[in-house]
Amino acid sequence: MNRTTLNLPKAVSFDTLELPEQNCPNCSSEGLLVFYRLDDIPFHSCLLMFNKDEALKYPKGNLQFGFCPSCGFITNTRFEPGVHNYSADYEETQGFSECFNAFAKSLAQRIIDKYDIRDKTILEIGCGKGEFLALMCRLGNNRGIGIDPAYVPERNPDVTGGKIEFIRDFYSEKYAHLKADVICCRHTLEHIAPTQQFMKTLRQTIGDRKDTLIFFELPDVMRVLGDGAFWDIYYEHCSYFTAGSLARLFRTCGFDIDDLYLDYDGQYLILTAYPAQSQTNMGLDIENDLEQLNTAIKEFKENCSRRIDYWRGIVEQATRQGQRVVIWGSGSKGVAFLTTLKLDNQIEYTVDINPYKQGRNMPGTGQQVISPKFLKQYAPDKIIVMNPIYCREIQEELDRLNIKADLLAVS
Ligand SMILES: [Zn+2]
Repeated sequence: MNRTTLNLPKAVSFDTLELPEQNCPNCSSEGLLVFYRLDDIPFHSCLLMFNKDEALKYPKGNLQFGFCPSCGFITNTRFEPGVHNYSADYEETQGFSECFNAFAKSLAQRIIDKYDIRDKTILEIGCGKGEFLALMCRLGNNRGIGIDPAYVPERNPDVTGGKIEFIRDFYSEKYAHLKADVICCRHTLEHIAPTQQFMKTLRQTIGDRKDTLIFFELPDVMRVLGDGAFWDIYYEHCSYFTAGSLARLFRTCGFDIDDLYLDYDGQYLILTAYPAQSQTNMGLDIENDLEQLNTAIKEFKENCSRRIDYWRGIVEQATRQGQRVVIWGSGSKGVAFLTTLKLDNQIEYTVDINPYKQGRNMPGTGQQVISPKFLKQYAPDKIIVMNPIYCREIQEELDRLNIKADLLAVS
């Protein structure tokens, strides 16, 4: 492909590079292959700023995708541990979306029914604001222990019928004494760089309690690579999994996989496992993905650069014609979309239904976050939705507010 025909920001590179001496943090094999670089992106994408100046000056780092041919894991080899601030200001919740809540509720019910999680103790590592744990406790009359440095006591979720306690901290060996029937970890492992070390610690803390159910949920990178979905690649996520690389990690660290599948329109990997009895059980078909992954990585340059070029084109053409463009979704995907495309002046606002985000500014590019209602006076011509799964919910909101605009979704 001739790069000069495409409109790509300088910070993006698809040049390949071998790192023969670098070990894979997921399987310890030597040798990683770099295939994507993205410079100058904000360390955080869920931490919003109080003003534009602070947002533009927000500390930035670089991302470099290193692929491990042995286990299929992808890691940001330029990730600097310790730059993150997962404090009470961290605003990761998706709990203001009806669509997301419906998914969380059906997932919780499914897990409760399948594994008969009733009158049990559930430990959630990285519980965020605690909504999912509260749901599991409410639906199954369970007891919960949530661990997360970003938990906010004032936003206590409804735990009718269950019992729950929260610990504002990162999970570590010091919580080995907390005995649980279920250990749940959703959208957290992708923020942890030494994945094998983390899973080995978890396995050690479980000890001989071999009937402990383990339940993980995290994004699937196969879809991100295949779609060239650059809006799903950002600094906060330093670890990127396919079904296979996730399963290989679990097996290496002494777990047997009970179930592994994709959900949420194919975006998330859902895994349930138990500590392995002696030898780990047979692999599932979904784990045999190394060949497909190699192809996806080879095609990523083409897919991703075309997507970047396409969306820059859409925004630049609209603004040239004097049209107003807004982004819907101020979370990580919104930050990644704006920072990868290097869009700042062309887009003034980002819409979000989470009231805790409104009035704040997007790290890196500075757009102010506004409520859907504000669009009535701003009258945008185009709204770019950061996840197509929310299009219906958003269109209904626009109809309620009588706002006419073109709705485009990243895909
Ligand atoms: Zn590996």
